[in-house]
Amino acid sequence: MTRRILVAGNWKMNGLQADGTALAADLAGRMKGAGAMKCDMLVCPPFPLISTIVNAVAGSGIAVGGQDCHAQEKGAFTGDTSAYMLKDIGCSYVIVGHSERRTYHAESDETVKAKAEAGLAAGLSAIVCIGETLEQRDAGQTLEVNRSQLHGSIPAGATPENTVIAYEPVWAIGTGRTATPEQAQEVHAMIRSELVGKLGDAAGNAMRVLYGGSMNAKNAAELLTQPDIDGGLIGGAALKADDFWTIAQSCP
Ligand code: PEP
Repeated sequence: MTRRILVAGNWKMNGLQADGTALAADLAGRMKGAGAMKCDMLVCPPFPLISTIVNAVAGSGIAVGGQDCHAQEKGAFTGDTSAYMLKDIGCSYVIVGHSERRTYHAESDETVKAKAEAGLAAGLSAIVCIGETLEQRDAGQTLEVNRSQLHGSIPAGATPENTVIAYEPVWAIGTGRTATPEQAQEVHAMIRSELVGKLGDAAGNAMRVLYGGSMNAKNAAELLTQPDIDGGLIGGAALKADDFWTIAQSCP
């Protein structure tokens, strides 16, 4: 089963218009000059920059996504953004359940699932994040925690076209401490087998599972060549065009 690699940048709460535009224009220029790519490329800027970035990457093949969405279509939810609004301004993806949302906004699996389903209803693809803490890993609970988050967060109606899973060990995010390829592959293999059990052979084997957690220009190649790692969700290294581009060029 060949799955096309997805290299996704999560810019988090970084960048003003000038920074975001310069980064996006730099990447778009490289894309246009590169010919056929071996991977799909996605950037997820902060909400206020999305329209600007959609314009900056227009025609380059780089997709744009949101970092979160509300589970409802519209209404009295001050400060929130709906999946339909993201779609309306040119997004094709939305990240849901990032560990920073789960931690700082107390998002449960149930909330993440509802947000993913809102994304699908709006015509977006959902990137559903799961991952264990260091305490859970040290307690030998890694597979159990990720299995439970996966089943609790995956949206009803998930298909390989509309859903991507991102395994992001919390202890590796923004810490410079990356999971070894073997550690990551062990969890990805479990996710793959759970997806096959839940969605059937064809869909389970076709759904992309990304790794996230201090992926960078140096370690990307060995992570991306693991059999069940189908791309990266990249934070810090996605803010530097050279690093993000090198990661994309590391795709097998
Ligand atoms: C992330 O934000 O999802 C992430 C993996 O960040 P970093 O690459 O900086 O660890």
